[in-house]
Amino acid sequence: MLADRTTLTRFLIEERRRYPSMCGDLNSLILNVALACKAIARRVSYGALDGVLGAEASTNVQGETQQRLDVIANDLFLRANEWGGMVAGLVSEELEAPHPIPARFSRGKYLLAFDPLDGSSNIDVNVSVGSIFSILRAPDLAGADPTEKAFLQPGTEQVCAGYAIYGPSTMLVLTVGTGVHGFTLDPQLGEFVLTRQQIRIPPTATEFAINASNRRFWEPAVRRYVDECLAGRAGPRGTDFNMRGVASLVAEAHRILTRGGVFLYPRDSEDPARPGRLRLLYEANPVALLVEQAGGRASTGRDRLLKVVPTGLHQRVPFIFGAADEVGRIETYHREPLDGGLDAPLYGTRGLFRVSA
Ligand code: MN
Ligand code: MN
Repeated sequence: MLADRTTLTRFLIEERRRYPSMCGDLNSLILNVALACKAIARRVSYGALDGVLGAEASTNVQGETQQRLDVIANDLFLRANEWGGMVAGLVSEELEAPHPIPARFSRGKYLLAFDPLDGSSNIDVNVSVGSIFSILRAPDLAGADPTEKAFLQPGTEQVCAGYAIYGPSTMLVLTVGTGVHGFTLDPQLGEFVLTRQQIRIPPTATEFAINASNRRFWEPAVRRYVDECLAGRAGPRGTDFNMRGVASLVAEAHRILTRGGVFLYPRDSEDPARPGRLRLLYEANPVALLVEQAGGRASTGRDRLLKVVPTGLHQRVPFIFGAADEVGRIETYHREPLDGGLDAPLYGTRGLFRVSA
């Protein structure tokens, strides 16, 4: 019965009671984000019936083709959050510069960065997509619109982070710094209902996800890690691993927050100007905060991801996250010099994704 259940609204009110320093504005902002996610979930669920599938003629600031739903979801996020007086500015994957709050609305004390539709290339094949968001404190701007610089805060400064996943059911997973909690959308009530409390990622794992087609561009540390996993019981790890992958960050994060494992989108040499694929402000940072709050670890491969000081709104980073022991191992491999380097026998001939040199 609903009376026995905790809705998102009730959860936020009770959290605030436990942490009186938390501001009521943050709760209102989170509820507006949740409203945007519910509206997106509805559009996504109608699929072809609603005419929302397919690509737009436009490309976004990253030069990627925009799906029709990218544009719709971005607009829903902006409309749901610009009016309430809680945010001073918004940054989106789909916008080159921060979205200014229209003059008729007041400015608030938070900044919102979001990827309105993550995994949008999956939408036409009816595979899970999601939305990712990150909330920062706005610097005191005396009523002026925040510039790009205001958003360039390391992930440790996030006051809230989360995502919605539009899968067989719609879920909202978030942290306000007191652990990670999951809510399932009751589509009849239109309410997110608490269904998973204090989500934890086990420190060990035998499941990993990586786009193996990029192997020839990986650094030696990543090749070593993956080769050792693939070698299974007979290899140095002494156990068999599974490889899983959905190729959308939200789906990967949700799987790892549900049953553990490790995900890698490492630095690679394909395009030296782009050391990594995922965006720091509205993809990696919020997922990294969730992962750390769930007892996991999130890294660039070399350093704690949340410590990265951003230099641009759409900056990309290498991103490795999940089971603490596995991510720690990968960081160790990045620090260790390779005996013999890439030409050593393990990498030249024994790699299971062998490439001709
Ligand atoms: Mn994305
Ligand atoms: Mn996106």
